[in-house]
Amino acid sequence: MAIIENEKFKYCHHASGIILRLDIDTFRPRKHNGHMTHWHSPRFHAYFPTASSYPAILADMLSGALGCVGFSWISSPICTELEMSMMDWLGKMLHLPSEFLFSSHGKGGGVIQEAASESTLICMLAARSRAITKYSSSSSPKNKSPLNKLVAYCSTQAHSSVEKAALLSAVKIRSLDPDTNLSLRGETLERAIKDDREKGLIPFFVAASLGTTNSCAFDNIIEIGQIYIWLHIDAAYAGSAFICPEYRHYLNGVDKADSFNMNPHKWLLVNSDCSALWVKNLNLISDAFNVDPVYLKYDKQGQIHDFRHLQIALGRRFRSLKMWFVFRLYGLNGLQQFIRKHIRLASEFKMMLQTDPRFQIEQPVVLGLVTFRLKGSDELNKKYAKAINDRRKIHISPCSINGRYTLRFVVCSRHTELEDIKFSWNEFKTVADQFPMENGFANH
Ligand SMILES: *Cc1c(COP(=O)(O)O)cnc(C)c1O
Repeated sequence: MAIIENEKFKYCHHASGIILRLDIDTFRPRKHNGHMTHWHSPRFHAYFPTASSYPAILADMLSGALGCVGFSWISSPICTELEMSMMDWLGKMLHLPSEFLFSSHGKGGGVIQEAASESTLICMLAARSRAITKYSSSSSPKNKSPLNKLVAYCSTQAHSSVEKAALLSAVKIRSLDPDTNLSLRGETLERAIKDDREKGLIPFFVAASLGTTNSCAFDNIIEIGQIYIWLHIDAAYAGSAFICPEYRHYLNGVDKADSFNMNPHKWLLVNSDCSALWVKNLNLISDAFNVDPVYLKYDKQGQIHDFRHLQIALGRRFRSLKMWFVFRLYGLNGLQQFIRKHIRLASEFKMMLQTDPRFQIEQPVVLGLVTFRLKGSDELNKKYAKAINDRRKIHISPCSINGRYTLRFVVCSRHTELEDIKFSWNEFKTVADQFPMENGFANH
């Protein structure tokens, strides 16, 4: 109550604004006031989208109301069974190879995780466990666990969660340089693996990205897939676009992967949390994670997956309801239209940028992300980004590409229309007018 009584609204924009600013005396850190950032404002263009839709919100409420905990099949059978169906439905929308689906009655299948970060960690731990088993038995008894020799790989462009997974797994990680298109190539990985083997290390895992956070670049999974270590594919953002036939080719090569992950909670209208992870051999995870106390045993055990063996926590919410509601209400067609609209709007923004010589586009615009700079120094671009966000009309977040400070513009909200893109573009121009241009570019 004390907090609520202390609240003073300083700025209060509705959906057209981005930041709701609260002055909460109790919790004010240093000089900052409490802010609410409106991720679903049509003029929010930072980070990547986070999904939201009415059916998903309703399903989340229903999940809260039912309040069951589906850790094993017997604890609430529908939780496991609907999740298996929904992961197969989505897997089919993405045209995943059948080995990743439950319906093929092999070892593969999908499971909902809380986040892409967790999916990477879980796969790294399973790969680690497989490597330790293999190399412990083949090494001489004098040798201790090979843990300190294990090495994982990713590109310098990979999401920070890959490095974090390696920290948590207590293994080495090498970030490899991508090519000029910011794509990690098979040859680079092969060379690194050869070097490391010569040093006596044990390469065991590579995380490839489809749609990097910086610039939406794509690692070459066809080449990387030729190399025999655990291949995990992180397509947290871009994965949703692969439900459209015209973008599905980015996923070619997934048949060589051991695990594939994308976040319906980013770009497929399913509210957080819902990260979809498919694994070709789920036993590799359950073998690594299996604990079996008496209080969780039941008579049909082993006939169907118990999802508690495929995640870190025991408890789990009924998250597949959100997928079911969204898939039924939007349909594949509706979801494809939603994705295509965002991509179209990003390309509209790109064309607006191209009309103004003060700006340069950095990387090819493939999906809903545009990377660009005001021509000039990093310092200029930093000040410019700050000035944009300080006006609180639109919101953006920067990145670093090839060591250069770069601006990112992402179409994020379900409510964004062409009018909003024009509004945002006008903001970029208006603020640019206030900046003395470097490199001989005069202001308009
Ligand atoms: C957003 C993002 C992540 C992290 O997603 P979480 O679900 O928040 O863990 C990982 N990888 C990529 C490429 C991303 O864009």
